[in-house]
Amino acid sequence: MLGICALPPALSRRGPLTSHGSGYTFATMYFASDNTSGLPAPILDAITRANDGYVPGYGTDPFMDALRDRIRTIFEAPEAEVMLVTTGTAANALALATLCPPWGAIYCHGLAHIEVDECGAPEFYTGGAKLVHVGGADGKIDAGALGDMLARSGRGVVHSVQPAALSLTNLSECGTRYAAQEIADRAWIALDHGLRVHLDGARFANALVAEGCTPAELSWRAGVDVLVLGGTKCGLMGVEAVIFFDPAPYWEAQLRRKRAGHLWSKHRFLSAQMLAWLEDDLWLGLARHANAMAARLEAGLEGRLMFPRGGNMLFARLPRATHDALQAAGAQYFLWPDHQDDLAEVSVRLVTSWSTQPQDVDRFLDLV
Ligand SMILES: *Cc1c(COP(=O)(O)O)cnc(C)c1O
Repeated sequence: MLGICALPPALSRRGPLTSHGSGYTFATMYFASDNTSGLPAPILDAITRANDGYVPGYGTDPFMDALRDRIRTIFEAPEAEVMLVTTGTAANALALATLCPPWGAIYCHGLAHIEVDECGAPEFYTGGAKLVHVGGADGKIDAGALGDMLARSGRGVVHSVQPAALSLTNLSECGTRYAAQEIADRAWIALDHGLRVHLDGARFANALVAEGCTPAELSWRAGVDVLVLGGTKCGLMGVEAVIFFDPAPYWEAQLRRKRAGHLWSKHRFLSAQMLAWLEDDLWLGLARHANAMAARLEAGLEGRLMFPRGGNMLFARLPRATHDALQAAGAQYFLWPDHQDDLAEVSVRLVTSWSTQPQDVDRFLDLV
């Protein structure tokens, strides 16, 4: 899906979030993805602090105990179980494998990351489950279409895959956002048909601060059974939490994680990062900053947006000449979809992050 990937010679030498302005000498118009940012200072500090002494491995570290408690508190879910992995693909695929048998069907949007960007990992880890596409505008599953499809799903028919899970993504792959009620509308339809609900939250933090509700309202209270809480795109070095609001599948999930080679031995460095991220609401501040930078971009791109902006990601149509000028000036972003060679206009995907600087945005908009 993502085509142009011209990496810059070096990532910028900007300082951490806490020292905006210092050591910042040039604008880097880097809007390719939020995973291109480094780590905020408090996360680096947490890694350094966790480096002291000897700590048990494999998720039995005290940081993990504190993190589990913190997640249970933040999500108002005292029973929830938490499992960390280092990629969103592993998180999604392992979570779905605990919800869906090999002969099952996972209902998702045709643009879903699990469909488009995971090289068949969900199919692989489930042992062959089928991803069934549900339509809907702006990257969001249409509730009516979901109901219609589940009404004729072939449940109980030996020739058909058996409906097992609904997978939603928030923010969606089009940068749009499901409100808590919109998650609930779709989840209740799924639950009515006996499915369980997975939420790919690679950008859950961005959705949450934009929505202005509680973490519980945007997850289990809206019917989500398993949430992948993404840390990597919001300031962590490869930490994704799989949160099981219903703890029943957790043991199986742990076995699956180990079997997949995703149980980290020096696990403390994962848990310590996410713990620091959730302490003092750092995660919300980082997400708010990313969203604010996207809002600044949006303000200068009026009339060009392809989808309503849900958080820190937006898509816009630009004249090809503008695109060429931006590229010449070193702006980094993906075309979406790719292969747009013959068009007078191109569609671009712009993603901001915790470390995006207002100067980056302003220089970009000057060129537009
Ligand atoms: C980035 C992303 C992921 C995680 O991808 P990995 O590269 O496997 O870490 C999952 N879902 C969505 C929607 C994403 O944007």
